[in-house]
Amino acid sequence: SPPEQAPPRPAFDDDEFVELRTAMVRDQIEGRGVADEAVLAAMRRLPRHRFAPMVSARSAYGDKPQPIGHGQTISQPYTVAYMTEVLELGADDRVLEVGTGSGYQAAILAEIVGEVVTIEIIRELADSAAERLQRMGYRNITVLHGDGYHGYAARAPFDAIVVTAAASHTPPPLVAQLRPGGRMVIPVGRAGWIQNLLLVEKHADGEVSTRNLASVRFVPLTGGH
Ligand code: SAM
Repeated sequence: SPPEQAPPRPAFDDDEFVELRTAMVRDQIEGRGVADEAVLAAMRRLPRHRFAPMVSARSAYGDKPQPIGHGQTISQPYTVAYMTEVLELGADDRVLEVGTGSGYQAAILAEIVGEVVTIEIIRELADSAAERLQRMGYRNITVLHGDGYHGYAARAPFDAIVVTAAASHTPPPLVAQLRPGGRMVIPVGRAGWIQNLLLVEKHADGEVSTRNLASVRFVPLTGGH
């Protein structure tokens, strides 16, 4: 069979913070049990500090979410790694992200899969993430401004969906846009509280099952739904 088409991977010219990044992956991510080599490699490679320009590089690689403006955050590195791992991604997958924020999670996904569509409800964040990802050289990420509750039917079905804001319930449009055999990871629960990180699996026969993976704390999924 023909070799798999690898997604385009931009070349980054800075290795300035490689030690911080290596330590981040070793201590925060591998050290807590994330073992998917594709996820680890993406997190070792991607210059996370460029996605968190409001804080120092040391903080950007720290074990916490960080502010990105507009009351929003770039998620903790471990959370990004764990949510990516549980999706069990393949090189040809098309993935939907709801909650672009800085664009960091989208770039991690784009290092691993063929195509990423990401939706952000705050226009300024959507614009700055799109500009950042374009400038970094990603050509397999589409950033959309809108309410991600409704997903993006024009590019459905998706092999995987990741929601990075806390919803009160699992949005039916997102379940509908998941391909049979696909996986979605989504924090569900009360805004401002601890939520359940759910893994929603759509099986080959169309049956949907849900499993609670962990307790998490995310900013709320907003919008008019
Ligand atoms: N994934 C992001 C990253 O890597 O930087 C972090 C996401 S931040 C924790 C959650 C984001 O979801 C915020 O930028 C917020 O504006 C966005 N958001 C909230 N509700 C949304 C909605 N209904 N549709 C799309 N984005 C939404």
